[in-house]
Amino acid sequence: MRPSPIAATVDFDKDGTQHGFLKLPYSRDDSAWGAVMIPVAVVKRGQGPTALLTGANHGDEYEGPIALFNLANELDLARITGRVIVVPAMNYPAFRAGTRTSPIDKGNLNRVFPGRPDGTVTEKIADYFQRHLLPLADYVLDIHSGGKTLQFVPLAATHLLPDKGLQDKCVASMRAFNAPYSMTMLELDSVGMYDSAAEEMGKIFISTELGGGGSATAATADIARRGVRNLLMHAGILAGSADRRPSVGLDMPSGDCYVTSEGAGLLEIRIDLGAAVRKGDVLARVHGYERTGTPPVEYRAKLDGILAGRHYPGLVQTGDTIAVVAVPVG
Ligand code: ZN
Repeated sequence: MRPSPIAATVDFDKDGTQHGFLKLPYSRDDSAWGAVMIPVAVVKRGQGPTALLTGANHGDEYEGPIALFNLANELDLARITGRVIVVPAMNYPAFRAGTRTSPIDKGNLNRVFPGRPDGTVTEKIADYFQRHLLPLADYVLDIHSGGKTLQFVPLAATHLLPDKGLQDKCVASMRAFNAPYSMTMLELDSVGMYDSAAEEMGKIFISTELGGGGSATAATADIARRGVRNLLMHAGILAGSADRRPSVGLDMPSGDCYVTSEGAGLLEIRIDLGAAVRKGDVLARVHGYERTGTPPVEYRAKLDGILAGRHYPGLVQTGDTIAVVAVPVG
């Protein structure tokens, strides 16, 4: 396969703190010989494990970039054993545009793995992570949130994996991150995800969904800040004592957890995030917005649990995920 067009301005093998870029040549109208410059920081001291920390895989999710731009400024080299690679805004063009996908090619970075060195800008970023950054890592944390169209209870997540030994390590890392909720997640469609790429490579991978709605709160940003440090301590990379608080385990036993809109309209959510629901409870009603005199369509819970996620904007389209119900465990 041809080499990646991306070149790092940092040396991943060098001890010390470095701030630089992943430089991706991108010729365009306003910059003929221009490049996309993706910020990257490397903090390395001696021999030890490597953690690869990313935010803004989707460009409209902000807890990751906030926590990681801060971390890159604050990490104390003297407390590090091993290496931390920080990419606060992985799909940098999407992050700059404040959109989920890239404004350059409409690429959804979390659906194009393993990427291509000769593909679109988004595919080139995926390929660089696939072939250059993931192989360096022992621990991989990808910080997501709901973005503009979803909102979640603040959760860290792992997946069910065929390799149970690896799954146990992922669960231990998820618990160490210590978000208020710790979820074993069932993906709607895992093809092309960064998660799957890391897991198939045998990496200890965790992701998160921290809030959403297209911004961050002080509380969700703080969960990310604490979680990143807790994970680095769990990995033995950062010296210090973890800040541990209670966390509720969540399971997604089947596709019944997802409630999908079968029509467009005005969303009336009937249950707030984190609240308990019983099978058959009305989670939301969708009103036709053309005229009065038509009854709303009701969407009910298909199992007992809590409301873990919801559609965020006030209007829904056909096919939107309206609600996600998860089951508390342990
Ligand atoms: Zn995301």
